[in-house]
Amino acid sequence: MGQITLTKVRKAFGEAEVIPGIDLQINDGEFVVFVGPSGCGKSTLLRLIAGLEDITSGKIEIDGREATNAAPAERGLAMVFQSYALYPHMSVRKNIAFPLKMAGMSDADQTAKVENAARILNLTNYLDRRPGQLSGGQRQRVAIGRAIVREPAAFLFDEPLSNLDAALRVTMRQEITELHHNLKTTMIYVTHDQVEAMTMADKIVVLQAGRVEQVGSPLELYNEPANLFVAGFIGSPK
Ligand code: ADP
Ligand code: MG
Repeated sequence: MGQITLTKVRKAFGEAEVIPGIDLQINDGEFVVFVGPSGCGKSTLLRLIAGLEDITSGKIEIDGREATNAAPAERGLAMVFQSYALYPHMSVRKNIAFPLKMAGMSDADQTAKVENAARILNLTNYLDRRPGQLSGGQRQRVAIGRAIVREPAAFLFDEPLSNLDAALRVTMRQEITELHHNLKTTMIYVTHDQVEAMTMADKIVVLQAGRVEQVGSPLELYNEPANLFVAGFIGSPK
């Protein structure tokens, strides 16, 4: 579960060749960070994996099955959006249960899964509040809870902490890292923040202009940057 293979994945928006062609292997249980400057194609690549955007050519396999043209819901992946994507008029409980309700799950089964996710995320005492009555960190945890209940093969995060203040970002980074240790589910995490990449990743994918500059562990990138771009971006002394 949670193995994702990209083969010659290409994406163009009209004339604009945003991703000229990427080969990438993501292994089961890995915490993979896509990092690179704004506009380099991180979100587009994540959306291609999620199926929210069609690829122009190439192949996507999830757990050995061809998923290139599969609908998002068929891919078994869960995208975690920023906390402002919560429904303000619904309780925390209903926000977390929403994907299960959409999938037609019984109320009893929904309750069990929501309460389990709430326990993992320390939200048990907040289930009957509305998002507006929560702190920024709690709201972000609700957004993660909505992904957890689906028991995805992989979690996909797109800059989930970018609208939180610096101190809270540090806490949430630790919480997401801890969640990964507990669930051991594949996570793909997009950020433009090198510190986030270096502190959270098992494997970092450095992107520039839709191309993979280097793939490696934080230590490998720091010690052996493939080129000046990676060295400059990661901040190591090559
Ligand atoms: P990042 O997430 O790394 O900041 P994006 O993936 O959002 O980068 O964007 C990469 C490039 O693709 C940018 O030049 C952006 O303008 C372009 N792009 C993204 N989405 C679209 C779209 N729907 N139509 C046209 N161009 C797009
Ligand atoms: Mg982006």
